[in-house]
Amino acid sequence: MCAAAVAAAAGCGDEESFDGDMVRPPSGFISTARSALGSGSTNVIYLRYADGSEQHTSDYDACSGTVPVFDCTFAPTLVECQSQIQAYLDQWFADFNVIFTLTRPTHRKYYTAVISSGGGAWCGVSDRVAGIAPFVCKDLAGGVAYAFYGGRNARETAVIVAQELAHLVGLEHTANPRDVMYPSICSDCGGFVDDDTAVVGDICDRSSQNSYKLLQRTLGAWPGGDKPSAFADAPPDETTPSGQSSSLAVAGCSVAPGRHSADPVLVLVLVLVFVLVRGRSRTGSRMP
Ligand SMILES: [Zn+2]
Repeated sequence: MCAAAVAAAAGCGDEESFDGDMVRPPSGFISTARSALGSGSTNVIYLRYADGSEQHTSDYDACSGTVPVFDCTFAPTLVECQSQIQAYLDQWFADFNVIFTLTRPTHRKYYTAVISSGGGAWCGVSDRVAGIAPFVCKDLAGGVAYAFYGGRNARETAVIVAQELAHLVGLEHTANPRDVMYPSICSDCGGFVDDDTAVVGDICDRSSQNSYKLLQRTLGAWPGGDKPSAFADAPPDETTPSGQSSSLAVAGCSVAPGRHSADPVLVLVLVLVFVLVRGRSRTGSRMP
């Protein structure tokens, strides 16, 4: 079936999903994770719309190689595309102590989502994988995740970005089609569901997951007031320039076991990948 606009855009029966969009980083990566962020500070998410100049130099990066340029097809300008995508992300992350920026932060740690187009072949993953993120069952307090199919429509792009970011924070896939963490690009979801839901493909010993509460517990609750716009020139001044991303620096693309042999330490476990929905029949067969 192809009820969703997203599915229609992707093509019935040939949709991407998140199957295999999580990859395990080196064991030493997480040791300095949350502590480097400090307690009580606002988390920062850096959204980088790929323009061909991406470099893999900071934090743990799920890919290496040349990132395909973000190609937006649903709005006339890049800023308009970004605005439409941002509207979804702002809504879905509104309750959490996190802000978005389109300008690379210069101090302390931050999460990064690189938004590209055309699939993840360049990163060595299947064309059906919608995105990828390093994943260790808990908050990485950093790391670089990718959306491979940005730009086809705003909502779909936001879903991919949101799920990959949530993987950086430690969330798994759930069986609730209204949850952003659903293992297909959800057509009915409206954010992170505040309900205990069965975990799909659990690797963290969780029988269920409340995506909303887990995000809130990890990132903290937004203290109130307006959040700064992602389109501001720079993110709010950070209090302490601690935990530079280089402290966790590990490069390499370990999306699929055996796919890269550059550093065997990196290739430990496959976890999350936003794989395209392969039609409802496939999805249904995977759900309890
Ligand atoms: Zn995923």
